[in-house]
Amino acid sequence: MSDKFRQKRIEIYCKEVTKGKKCPGQSAKDSHCGWYAIRKQLDILDLCEVPSQAKRRENFKQLVKDNFTSGDWFDAFKESDPRNNQVFHGTSFPWLPGKETTKAFKNLKLYAESDFGAMLVQKILLDNKKPMRGKRFFIGQDNNGSASGSMDRILFPKDFPSREKFFTRDVIYPMAIIHHEMGHTKFFSHVNKKLKGEMDVCHERLVVINNENPVKMFYGHEPRYTYYRPDSCKTVNVITGESLPGLYTFDLKDPRKMVKLDASVMPEGFRTECKVAS
Ligand SMILES: [Zn+2]
Repeated sequence: MSDKFRQKRIEIYCKEVTKGKKCPGQSAKDSHCGWYAIRKQLDILDLCEVPSQAKRRENFKQLVKDNFTSGDWFDAFKESDPRNNQVFHGTSFPWLPGKETTKAFKNLKLYAESDFGAMLVQKILLDNKKPMRGKRFFIGQDNNGSASGSMDRILFPKDFPSREKFFTRDVIYPMAIIHHEMGHTKFFSHVNKKLKGEMDVCHERLVVINNENPVKMFYGHEPRYTYYRPDSCKTVNVITGESLPGLYTFDLKDPRKMVKLDASVMPEGFRTECKVAS
C-alpha cells in the first residue's frame, strides 16, 4: 500500500472514528489513538497485572492442554460435553495432532506471548475452571472458512492467515485478527451485554475499533478502514459507520470515502454468495 498518504489516513482515523455513526455499546468520548488509549483498549494499562514472560509460556502450555488433546478427539470428550455439538460437524473440529507445525498455531502462540494476548489467555484459563454461561471456551480448526469467533469459541484454518490482504485491500495482521475474533467472545463486554452476538456490520465495526485496530496500532501498523461481509454483501466504513451494498475499498487520500471495487477480485465462492456485488 502506498505510504505517501499513510500518516494523513491515520490522523483522519484518530480524529474521526468516534464522530461517525455510533454502534450500540460505542461511547462518543472513547479515544482511539495514542499510547494511553491503545493500551487502555487492550486492557494492559496496569503492567503489574500483565503476566510475566515465564507465566505466559506456562499459561500457553495450559491452554494447549485444555484445548488441544492429542490422540483420539472423539474419545477425549463425553457426549454431554458442549464442545461435541459445537464443533464436531462439517469442517470444524479441534486441532489435530501435528498442530504445532501449523501457521495458525504459531500465530496463536505469538498472541499468547503478547501483553494483551497474555491477559486474555489468563481470562480463558480462569473461565475454563468455572465457565461463564455454562459453556467451556474452545479454540478449534475450520478448514473451509476464514477465522471466526462467537460467544464460546474461535476457529482458524490451519494455514491462517492464508492471505496478506482482505478483498477490501486492508492489510491483514494475524495477531490483530486473533484479537478481533476474541472480540466476538464472552470475554468482551461490548458483545456480552449490548449485542448478544449479533453479527451485522455494525457489530463487526465495533470489534474492529475496539479489538483489531488497537492491536494493529500497538505494533505501528495502519488501522483497518473497511469491513466487508460476504453473507450480507455489505462493506462498512470503520471510521464513519456508513455501510453500502457491494465490495468497497477506501480512498487512499481520505479513508472516510469508499471506492467501489470490481467483485471479480474475489474468488468464485464469494461472488456467487453475493448477488449485489456483481
Ligand atoms: Zn468479526
